[in-house]
Amino acid sequence: MADKRDYYEVLGLQKGASDDEIKKAYRKAAKANHPDLHPGDKEAEARFKEANEAYAVLSDPEKKAKYDQFGFAGVDPSFSAGQGGFTGDFGDLGDIFGDIFGGFGGFGGFGGQSRQSARSGPRRGESLQARLTLTFEEAAFGCKKDLNIPRVEQCPDCKGTGCAPGTTPEVCPDCRGTGTVTTQRRTPFGIMQSSGPCPKCGGSGRIIHSPCPKCRGNGNIRTQKKLNVTIPAGIDDGETVSLRGQGNAGTNGGPAGDLLVVISVRPSPTFQREGTNIYVTTSLSFVRAALGTEIQVPTLEGPVSLNIPEGTQTGSVFRLRGKGVPSVRTGLKGDQFVTVNLETPKNLNRRQKELLQELADISGEKVKKKHRL
Ligand SMILES: [Zn+2]
Ligand SMILES: [Zn+2]
Repeated sequence: MADKRDYYEVLGLQKGASDDEIKKAYRKAAKANHPDLHPGDKEAEARFKEANEAYAVLSDPEKKAKYDQFGFAGVDPSFSAGQGGFTGDFGDLGDIFGDIFGGFGGFGGFGGQSRQSARSGPRRGESLQARLTLTFEEAAFGCKKDLNIPRVEQCPDCKGTGCAPGTTPEVCPDCRGTGTVTTQRRTPFGIMQSSGPCPKCGGSGRIIHSPCPKCRGNGNIRTQKKLNVTIPAGIDDGETVSLRGQGNAGTNGGPAGDLLVVISVRPSPTFQREGTNIYVTTSLSFVRAALGTEIQVPTLEGPVSLNIPEGTQTGSVFRLRGKGVPSVRTGLKGDQFVTVNLETPKNLNRRQKELLQELADISGEKVKKKHRL
């Protein structure tokens, strides 16, 4: 213990240095003395170990507090660098190693592993979205529509392998086709094992010697795909039709994404729609309403007759069962509701007024004098 240098001194710091300064100083020392950069240099190796030990203590708030107060005696005596006994939190060290190794460009695996494996291996293609505007009737009855979708597809020349016709990819010898390699590193804290994408094949597990000229070895090409889309009867404004596997092609054997067609429905001048029900409004003279009649009402399937019983009041609603829109899920049709608004007759001729006056007299209804003839 006597020959040990003060941990702050090892890292070139003053006592009371901040966490950030400690991290920076360690990074600098570790980088400068890393054994990979100084093969066979015992002094560098010793300095590297020394820096690691200092950092292991100074980066741990509890150990640092004890060290600050009691010196080496405050630090766990069983702690000994290089014996593999360190079981502390590797997260932070992982970050630092990732930074260091990332800087040298050769060592994947300590930092950002998940990021890297997400970049390689089978990956699902992106889902795409398209908009489609329909008339009220097209939405109600369903229809077929052609859509031109720009998307990524599997290369037809190489069937997605990325190899020039007549050639085959070689199984990557480094990872034996798995796309992943596991590396073991002996560090002062023990053996660190990590796995990451194979650097030789980029995680695909295959090596392509003569790439397909059409897709340049990519396996996928950008293209404009014409799709005939079936729109189910009863679809409504703002709803989506999902076409599985019609999005962008996947990579490295991953499945294609989906195509989501978002529907807009143009309003109808005649019909209003709410869910599977349809609403129309019609007007009727008060005479017809009073005496009862039969009227023609527009429906999605053409005009139908509607019986108006005598004495119908304005605002009365009549239901035409099953004349609505089918439900996309069940196929069951909603109803049509007809609201009848009564019209008061205007611009009456002399005879018409006489008759209405007579009606008023018989009913004992008072009307304004000036309307009398
Ligand atoms: Zn190709
Ligand atoms: Zn490989």
